[in-house]
Amino acid sequence: MTTRVAGSKMLLAGDWVDRDNKIEVRNPENNEWIDSVPAASGSDVQRAISLAKEGAEIAAEMSVSERMKVLKNAADYIEKHLEEYARTIALESSKTIKEARKEAGRAADVLRLSAEEARRLTGESINFDQVAGNEDRMGYYFRFPVGIIAAITPFNDPLNLVAHKLGPAVAAGNAIIIKPATETPLSALKLAEAFVEAGLPKKILTVITGRGRDIGDLLIKSKDIQMISFTGGLETGEKISNNAGLKKLSMELGSNSPSIVLEDADLSLAVDATVSGAFGVAGQNCLGVQRLFIEESVYEEFKSKFLAKVQSLKMGNKFSEETDMGPLINEKEAKRVESWVVEAVDLGAKILSGGYRDGAFYAPTVLENTPENATIVNEEVFGPVVMLFPVSGLNEAISRSNNVNFGLQAGIFTENIHAALKAAKRLHVGGVMINDSSDFRIDAMPFGGVKGSGLGREGVKYAIKEMSEERIVCFKISE
Ligand code: NAP
Repeated sequence: MTTRVAGSKMLLAGDWVDRDNKIEVRNPENNEWIDSVPAASGSDVQRAISLAKEGAEIAAEMSVSERMKVLKNAADYIEKHLEEYARTIALESSKTIKEARKEAGRAADVLRLSAEEARRLTGESINFDQVAGNEDRMGYYFRFPVGIIAAITPFNDPLNLVAHKLGPAVAAGNAIIIKPATETPLSALKLAEAFVEAGLPKKILTVITGRGRDIGDLLIKSKDIQMISFTGGLETGEKISNNAGLKKLSMELGSNSPSIVLEDADLSLAVDATVSGAFGVAGQNCLGVQRLFIEESVYEEFKSKFLAKVQSLKMGNKFSEETDMGPLINEKEAKRVESWVVEAVDLGAKILSGGYRDGAFYAPTVLENTPENATIVNEEVFGPVVMLFPVSGLNEAISRSNNVNFGLQAGIFTENIHAALKAAKRLHVGGVMINDSSDFRIDAMPFGGVKGSGLGREGVKYAIKEMSEERIVCFKISE
């Protein structure tokens, strides 16, 4: 059984609208048509921006208690229809139904967290009299909304990554225009439905469906937009940064994350966590484990346990409760991943498991002896491929982990507190997970990367900070 989300319209400043020009949404597993959404035009974008200017004023006037109420109502709505949300995610994206249920639950949590954090949107008093001559002054700062946020989101977490922008934007009192990935617009539209049902005043929210290459620049270059909150690939992130001009930017980009296994590690724990981290969402996860550095003395033992676990993964129908791994987002992406593996093998890598494709499915693949100049060592594969590298010890593991243009998160498995602390200090990333893989996140922690992995931090409280600004109020007191 499949969920059909029929006749989807886009939400333009609070009104559901249709357009003759359509984009078809297809199930990556079998290329079956699921639904069609409007292909927004330039004039739709301009209309969305012009109405969002009014929306920004309405949003800023909403009291914190009103914002909290809308956010909690939207979370309740998702929880009430959780299975429908999960089925929409599983239908249009790569996720299995088990993965999709987790994402839908997390999205509701993110909205609840946003409501809670709205309560804590506070400033502090300032001692102006610390500078002589200002003894007659007192004051404080408070946080005010930035105005209109353009949010551009990727396909791999089509609901929760949109919630990570919409929840904080509403909590901070902004208007927001969301452009979801063209492959997966239905989950974002369903999120908008939750906010409409929750009573969000019109004009605050737009979810515009259209191709980034057609309508992106109009959003990005608009002087009426104060902030761009982007999650996606490095190449698109750089293009957006170059075109944005003077506005706030939040860039949540990709990585080719390392995890390190030292000889004193609990190998069963390390195997379970790194297999799940490498092959969840068919490897299409910004935190996915791509490079595994294993101390030589335990390399062979780790490798044989790792391969046994990988070979037990079930790839197939996303809606089966037995399936561990679904397809890639489309056949083109599966072919790209395949070509990177072929290149690595041509350069000397050995395939230990997988290495074959069937339509949009690419088998969970493990490589060893991959040379440093292979594309797959240096770039983000965003597919179900992991490389094993034996290393002489922690120093080599850290320096090879850092030797790329990415730095989102890293994992290290060890019982040695000194090794763990050294890794935490020396790994150039936004987060170090000790006794877990790079692929660990809760929605309330600061999340983001360094180097080509991005700018700024998400994680509800931190996104709210990025989506608001300090305003000083200073009183000069007369006798
Ligand atoms: P992508 O190709 O960069 O696309 C992301 C979004 O940007 C889509 O909505 C896309 O629209 C839009 N876009 C493309 N070209 C644009 C342009 N010229 N102007 C404005 N918008 C444009 O990324 P993806 O393939 O969807 O997602 C995978 C990437 O996201 C990976 O690199 C992954 O690591 C990263 N990611 C990062 C995080 C994080 O939190 N750090 C989380 C998840 C994913 P169209 O779909 O219409 O092209």
